[in-house]
Amino acid sequence: MKQKITKALENVFTIDNKKNIIEAGIVKNIDFLKDEIIIHIHLSNPTLHIKKKLEKDIHQSIKYQNVSLDAKRIRIRIETIVLNTKKKIDGIKNIIAVASGKGGVGKSTIATNIAVSLVKMGFHVGLLDADIYGPSIPLMFNLLEEDMISSCIIKKNGNYLMNPIIRYGVKILSLGFFSKSGQAIVWRGPMATKFLRKFIHETDWGGLDFLIVDLPPGTGDIHLSLLQEIPLKGIIIVSTPQKIALSDVHRAVEMFRIRSIHVPILGIIENMSFFLIKKEKYYFFGKNGVRNFSKKMNIFFLGEIPMLQNIRESSDLGVPIVLENDQIRQIFGRITKNIIDQLNYHIS
Ligand code: ADP
Repeated sequence: MKQKITKALENVFTIDNKKNIIEAGIVKNIDFLKDEIIIHIHLSNPTLHIKKKLEKDIHQSIKYQNVSLDAKRIRIRIETIVLNTKKKIDGIKNIIAVASGKGGVGKSTIATNIAVSLVKMGFHVGLLDADIYGPSIPLMFNLLEEDMISSCIIKKNGNYLMNPIIRYGVKILSLGFFSKSGQAIVWRGPMATKFLRKFIHETDWGGLDFLIVDLPPGTGDIHLSLLQEIPLKGIIIVSTPQKIALSDVHRAVEMFRIRSIHVPILGIIENMSFFLIKKEKYYFFGKNGVRNFSKKMNIFFLGEIPMLQNIRESSDLGVPIVLENDQIRQIFGRITKNIIDQLNYHIS
């Protein structure tokens, strides 16, 4: 029966139609149990539609081979393996990604203010806005369309390179530079990944101590590709404290902890922890939600940021709040120092 099953699998082709799945080496094992046959498949970066198609093709091919199954059930187990194609990037010492479970929790605001805090500490810093769903970094740095168009591409040593825009000492590149303001961007996974690969490898970053990558919210193909391709030193997670935000963070943490990815989670930041009225704290989204979650998940708690009208206003004006408000500058100073400590802890 094993021979017949293998023959059936030889008639199933990989998604690019180049090889059959046996030749491609993605069938890792076939278990013949008492009442079922389990086919173990390893795929890198599978989407639901690829998985479904593969399962359907396998079932059909086994049916056409007329394998007598003796009432055994066929089960197909598809496991995600992450290919490690990370290349070290010359001149960039530490690449750190900022992630969140949901959109709107303040991920870009925090990426922006951490980048500026690092500059204030004397580091050379880049900020890559990889949020395909809503690249908001240009707005947070008040970059105008003409700034972006005029300084996007340069020619250096015969090669065309992207040229980041420098604002408040941060070298910035955003997917938003390549779309008109207000226009919907439909970045399909592979296209976004191709662009981001260029952004990282074909950009005149110069020497950087830190490149902060503002990831799209949630978990998806683009995260897996980035994690596979970029030599990240660590991930920072941002969440608000309510349950609904945290359940999505849980999913993100599970993804970043896929063993073959090996990127340490440096810590988690609680944003919009409370707001103040006459010096009294109001816990609008619940008290200590992220702190408790961090204990449960064994993730370092990097700090909390209050909900403040000034923060929203300064984002809208395109002036990072750490340049405007002493209290928030100190909060971000402590969080940024914690990130550096965690980085040293995880590297050593
Ligand atoms: P994300 O990147 O997670 O989608 P943003 O950073 O774009 O979220 O923030 C969403 C909105 O919330 C923005 O208008 C921003 O100014 C505002 N915001 C973020 N953090 C705070 C805060 N601590 N207090 C008040 N407003 C905030």
